[in-house]
Amino acid sequence: MSATKIIHAIPSDPLTGAISVPVYQTSTFIQEAPGVNKGFDYARSNNPTRKVLEDVIAELEGGHSGFAFATGLAAIDSVLKLLSSGDEIIAVDDIYGGAYRLFTHVYEKLGIKIQYVDTTEVENVGKAVSGKTKLIWLESPTNPTLKVSDIREIASIAKSVGAYLVVDNTFASPVGQNPIALGADLVIHSGTKYIGGHSDLVAGLVVTSTPELSEKIKFIQNASGGVLGPWDCFLTIRGIETLSLRYKKQSDNAQKIAEFLREHPEVDKVYYPGLESHKNHHIATKQQKGYYGGVVSFSLKDDTTSAANNFVTATNYFKLAESLGGVKSLLCHPAQMTHASIPREKRLRAGVQDSLVRLSCGIEDVEDLLADLANAFERVKTEKDLKLA
Ligand SMILES: *Cc1c(COP(=O)(O)O)cnc(C)c1O
Repeated sequence: MSATKIIHAIPSDPLTGAISVPVYQTSTFIQEAPGVNKGFDYARSNNPTRKVLEDVIAELEGGHSGFAFATGLAAIDSVLKLLSSGDEIIAVDDIYGGAYRLFTHVYEKLGIKIQYVDTTEVENVGKAVSGKTKLIWLESPTNPTLKVSDIREIASIAKSVGAYLVVDNTFASPVGQNPIALGADLVIHSGTKYIGGHSDLVAGLVVTSTPELSEKIKFIQNASGGVLGPWDCFLTIRGIETLSLRYKKQSDNAQKIAEFLREHPEVDKVYYPGLESHKNHHIATKQQKGYYGGVVSFSLKDDTTSAANNFVTATNYFKLAESLGGVKSLLCHPAQMTHASIPREKRLRAGVQDSLVRLSCGIEDVEDLLADLANAFERVKTEKDLKLA
């Protein structure tokens, strides 16, 4: 979606002409008579500030309706509540760690079966589905090795067995990819990442493709109550105003950084869908809109936790922290941080090596980010040489 459309998807206030969206910090709304109101009755069910955010994200994703939740995981949780005991999910194997924890430790216990498959090979999905499959769960690109799955092909498998295709679109953002146009039924975002964009809030979003799904998610949202508060809705809307600008700059920075890392003697593998050498580059170019996001992961020739530890504590601009997608560059060590809840063997099978480092490139000047990384490699090497001497 164009920057112009994104900015103008956000309405000014029809009551006062305020150019920015008012924060309706209220729990309830006065009724003229029982059941007679102005479209709002209680803030868990609906809130005017939240409604703006929900309408905007629906428009950005080309969906029917949007829903805002307290966190990305609350959004994921609301979609899982579409299922009943005995239903099955086919999920991407290097799924976000928090989603893995929710699936395995909450929903499996309630009688929902989950199969993890390498969805980058469409045949694997075809082989795994059955009449019991109710959801196919993709992330594309995935965290942290940026695997890309063919959304269009997998959508047609989902249709053939009557399952919903859900795409966690957090890493691509609505600027990089619109899964509903590729056949997905539901789209999820951790609004905490690119959409919020300033590392100052946690939020989750769901976008539905049909009126039937909208009705179901609306019911679950109100019944479970994990909604996003009005102030955080306002901040998320404010983040969306610069989403296009930020995502494009972050993608440009990440592309240059990936190219730098590819040539660096201390680096083993580099994972970035914008590199031709990336395993799924051809699918990425087909379904992403020329922007591959701010996340770049790489492993070291010295494939150890200690080598990764030395590197992630040697940078200046790249701050060591969980999360991604904000204006400030961050880095993390997935094995000990974001992916610590996944057993080592399973983690290694998904390509998350002991030395894997994940960068989230911000919007700083790329020369400074490149110099920061070059200095960090140099510092780690000097310290190692001193130890050996
Ligand atoms: C962060 C993240 C989530 C969870 O979102 P929260 O806002 O932290 O609850 C889900 N999926 C992906 C891909 C993420 O990166």
